[in-house]
Amino acid sequence: MRPSKRLERIPPYAFAQLERKIAAKREAGVDVISLGIGDPDRPTPPLIVQAMQEAVTEAETHRYPSNRGREDFRGAVRDFYERRFDVKLDPEREIIPAIGAKEAIFNLNLAFLDPGDYALAADPGYPVYTGGPWLAGAEPVLMALEPQLGFVPDLDEIDPDVASRTKLMYLNYPNNPTGAVVPEGFFERVVEFAREHDILVVHDNAYSEITFDGYRAPSFLATPGAKDVGIEVFSLSKGYNMTGWRCAVVLGNAEAIEIYWQLKTNIDSGLFEAVQLAGIAALSPDADAEVASMNELYRRRRDLVCDALHAIGVDVRPPRSTIYVWAPVPDGFESSAAYCEHVLEQAGVVLSPGAIYGPAGEGWFRISLTTPDDRLLEAVQRLGALGG
Ligand SMILES: *Cc1c(COP(=O)(O)O)cnc(C)c1O
Repeated sequence: MRPSKRLERIPPYAFAQLERKIAAKREAGVDVISLGIGDPDRPTPPLIVQAMQEAVTEAETHRYPSNRGREDFRGAVRDFYERRFDVKLDPEREIIPAIGAKEAIFNLNLAFLDPGDYALAADPGYPVYTGGPWLAGAEPVLMALEPQLGFVPDLDEIDPDVASRTKLMYLNYPNNPTGAVVPEGFFERVVEFAREHDILVVHDNAYSEITFDGYRAPSFLATPGAKDVGIEVFSLSKGYNMTGWRCAVVLGNAEAIEIYWQLKTNIDSGLFEAVQLAGIAALSPDADAEVASMNELYRRRRDLVCDALHAIGVDVRPPRSTIYVWAPVPDGFESSAAYCEHVLEQAGVVLSPGAIYGPAGEGWFRISLTTPDDRLLEAVQRLGALGG
C-alpha cells in the first residue's frame, strides 16, 4: 500500500530511531530513565476531575456538542483571559473550543493555506508548524530562533519575497523547546511585521501558566493591534495536567475564527461537553492554587537539573517558564544526537537531541521536567557521575 504524496512529504518521525535504541537497552536489562517527552507526570487536579465526574452523569453532555462550544465554556474563557491577561474578548465571535492545540494548529493550515503558500515556522519548534503546512500542500519556511536575541527570529532577516507569499506565522512563547520567554517589545514588532505583509499570526500559548521566579507570561493578544493580525491557541494540556483530555481554545481575530469554524464543521463534531465543563473548573480562580503548587514542583526540579548540569560543566540558563531545560551540547561531540546517544549508552538517561526540533536546534539538547522526583534525582546523579 502507498501513502498519499502529501503524507510522503513528512520526514520520518525523528524520535523513531531513538525509540528503537531505548527499547534495545531496556531489553538488555538497563534501567532507562526518559527525560525526553514533555507530558506532565502529575494527575489532573481533583477539582477538575470532580467537575468531569459530575458532568458525565448529565445526559445533556452525551450528545453531539456544537462546534461553537458551550456558552458557559466560552464565558469562562473570556473571564479567564480578562482576569489573567487583561485581554477582553467577545465570546460570540472571538472564542472557539478546539480538541487540543495540535488539532487547532493542524487545521489552521487547511483553513488558510493553498499550494505554493508559505507558513513561517519557528526553528527549533513544535513539529506541527512544519508538518501541518506540508500536509496542506503548502511550504513551511523556517525562521531560526536566535539565542543572542533571546530565542526569537530576526524579522529583518526574512526575505521580502518570502514574506509576500506567507499566509501564516507560527510563534510560541513561553517556548518549547528552548524554555525562552518573550523578550520585551518582540510581540509589538510581530504585529507590525504581520500588518506590513498581511500575515495571520498564530501564537501557540501552551505554557503561559507554568512560570517561575515571579515571572508572569503575557498573552500575544494583549499586544496592541494583535487581534487585527492574529489568533492565539491556548491549551489546557500542560498547565493543568490535562494532556489526555484534549482541551484547548482558539481566540482572537473574529474573521479568522469564523474561517477556522467553517473548516472544523467539515472535520470534527466539536469538543465533548463534559470536557468543556471540566475546562470551566480549570479556568476558575479555584484552580489557581493547584497551578501555583505545580509551578513550585517544576521550579524545584528545574533547579535540581540546572545545578547538576552546572556541576558537570554545562553552561545552562535556568528557564523562567515551561517544563523544559534547554542546554548546549558539551564540547567534544559532533552533534546533539551523538551527545544524547553517549548519555543513553553511558548513563541510561534519555535526553532529546535539539536537532529533532529543527536545524537551529543543533548543538543543544532538551531535558523535560515531567519525570517523578525520585527518578529525576537518579537521572541527575547519573549525569553527574558521567563527569564534565
Ligand atoms: C504540548 C504542546 C502542544 C500540544 O498541546 P495539546 O493541546 O495537547 O494538543 C502545542 N504546542 C506546543 C508548543 C506544545 O509544547
